[in-house]
Amino acid sequence: MNLILLGPPGAGKGTQAKLVAEQFGIPQISTGDILRQAVKDGTSLGQEAQAYMERGDLVPDAVVIGIIEERLTQPDCQAGYILDGFPRTEVQANALAETLGKRGGTIDHVVNIEVSDEELIHRLTGRRTCKECQEPYNVTFNPPQREGVCDKCGGELIQRKDDDEETIRARLGVYREQTAPLVAYYEKQGLLRTVTGAGAIREIFDAVCGVVEGRS
Ligand code: ADP
Ligand code: ADP
Ligand code: ZN
Repeated sequence: MNLILLGPPGAGKGTQAKLVAEQFGIPQISTGDILRQAVKDGTSLGQEAQAYMERGDLVPDAVVIGIIEERLTQPDCQAGYILDGFPRTEVQANALAETLGKRGGTIDHVVNIEVSDEELIHRLTGRRTCKECQEPYNVTFNPPQREGVCDKCGGELIQRKDDDEETIRARLGVYREQTAPLVAYYEKQGLLRTVTGAGAIREIFDAVCGVVEGRS
């Protein structure tokens, strides 16, 4: 099963992708996580991406398409995967379709998570992220058991540099201009399933599972 999670920054893509990955035994592929790891490791990819990410801009299409093409050839993707944060432009969506076409693969569902801007800003300003495993937490909505410490791996929780209010607003603008058109793009292909992202994490997960299992 190949799944795309679509939605603005803060919609809960990472949170839901991790739950789906656990439930269905398929890998979560997050271009944001891969890029942040590259920045942390100081690789040439990280050096190229860092300035874009800090401004809240998209990293150039060719760079992220390269990352995804390489990642999808890994053996753990054989039984399917969940794409979190890719594609983010029509150029990326077309490249994905072409890559899948060559390998006889298809996208099964595109799950679009909808949340109001006000709620997104509230979520993102309160987000804390594990430095080691990138699990997302929230100081208000999803706090860890022990303040500042990841429940999953014991790693330190930090605030992402791009989760300050000014950069959040820039990212929401970028989403509206460059990524939101993908809603219509996948709707036309009959792949789009919209779920409301307002509500408890578990409730939204139920709705996402409903889509994946063909119940809705
Ligand atoms: P995205 O990957 O779409 O940017 P995340 O999964 O990182 O989103 O979630 C953004 C923030 O919102 C995190 O702090 C997360 O803990 C919180 N969050 C996720 N889902 C919900 C929800 N249903 N209700 C409230 N807060 C949520
Ligand atoms: P979000 O919380 O906004 O969903 P991500 O972790 O998905 O954050 O992405 C963080 C940053 O990484 C983005 O603002 C962008 O600079 C870069 N990035 C991630 N995925 C892509 C992509 N598919 N195309 C271009 N840039 C990307
Ligand atoms: Zn962790």
